[in-house]
Amino acid sequence: MNYPASKLPEVGTTIFTVMSQMAAEHNAINLAQGFPDFNGPQLLLDAVGEHVAKGANQYAPMPGILPLREQIADKVQKLYGRAVCPNKEVTVTSGATEAIYAAITAVVSAGDEVVILDPAFDCYDPAIILNGGKAVHLQLQAPEFKLDWQALAAVISDKTRLIIFNSPHNPTGSVMSEDDIRALNKLVAGTDILLIGDDVYEHIIFDGAEHLSFVKYDELYKRSFVISSFGKTYHVTGWKIGYCVAPEYLTAEFRKVHQFMNFCTASPLQYALADIMQKQPQHYLELPAFYQKKRDLFNQLMKNSRFTGVPAAGSYFQIMDYSQISDLDDMAFCEYLTKEVGVAAIPISVFCEQPLNTRLVRFCFAKSDETLAQACEKLVKL
Ligand code: GLN
Repeated sequence: MNYPASKLPEVGTTIFTVMSQMAAEHNAINLAQGFPDFNGPQLLLDAVGEHVAKGANQYAPMPGILPLREQIADKVQKLYGRAVCPNKEVTVTSGATEAIYAAITAVVSAGDEVVILDPAFDCYDPAIILNGGKAVHLQLQAPEFKLDWQALAAVISDKTRLIIFNSPHNPTGSVMSEDDIRALNKLVAGTDILLIGDDVYEHIIFDGAEHLSFVKYDELYKRSFVISSFGKTYHVTGWKIGYCVAPEYLTAEFRKVHQFMNFCTASPLQYALADIMQKQPQHYLELPAFYQKKRDLFNQLMKNSRFTGVPAAGSYFQIMDYSQISDLDDMAFCEYLTKEVGVAAIPISVFCEQPLNTRLVRFCFAKSDETLAQACEKLVKL
């Protein structure tokens, strides 16, 4: 028989899977894929068992259990000052990746253009292509990876349906400022352009900076899907649970897709998360200090190395320049690091459409202090 042509001919296995596998095969310390090597809060872990024992083992409601949607709405009100309706504006999803796919699918049709900012997280582009859209890539420039608003305005056209933002940004660790928000307001006012705010690192932001969620701003929120991740916030990335906050019309369209992708998300996990949000609301407020210590430890330990980098403003990733160490391209360098040095990292070029002239890799510092010390001991020898 003749198989159909691939719908994603350019796509291979994600870099996260490739590098984690390589790290496991070569027994390397995995600072590549972004996940903590420590557990989530005990209360959360215990609560899952309790809810399983109590019988929370059947389908959850399609948009998520109400107590969790209420907790999310409560958090949005407290942190970002907007009263969102748990019934009409909040949907629990099986991870932020599902939410991003559902949001793109809900609004992108054949011929629509979607602007994404490179280096861009790898799930945006395929979701746009599978929906018949065209991804318009705009390159952010190292070392600061600040957005050039004039360059963005220049790629906007009457075909632009959506722009995807991610702050704090993976992989670069950059963060949107008040000036960025003002520029975005100006850019979209009076247009029909929609936005995705990929906010999965909203609580991992440093040096006293505040996360500027699109939920805060009327002009932005009315056109936004704001997406977050419990996996990042509660150190449980393997649970694959996140959520999307969007105005009523967009939420209704979002749910039409979500209900046929996943229908609903695992019940006991939702009850456990509702419990911890209610009982330990301080958890996410403590995350900036918790991760800032790890960022600082990692950068301190790397001071004695020939890697250079500006400390990340947010996220749990640190970009480092290795040009003093090697002329290899970043994929080859990551392979060498994993196989010969025993530390896995992520190359940056895989997140970019254009070839990069930089020598940059991403390290994940969401690791125990011992893991970071062991990894840096190897890296400083290079
Ligand atoms: N978000 C994580 C990272 O950037 C990994 C996600 C994934 O493996 N798909 O490393």
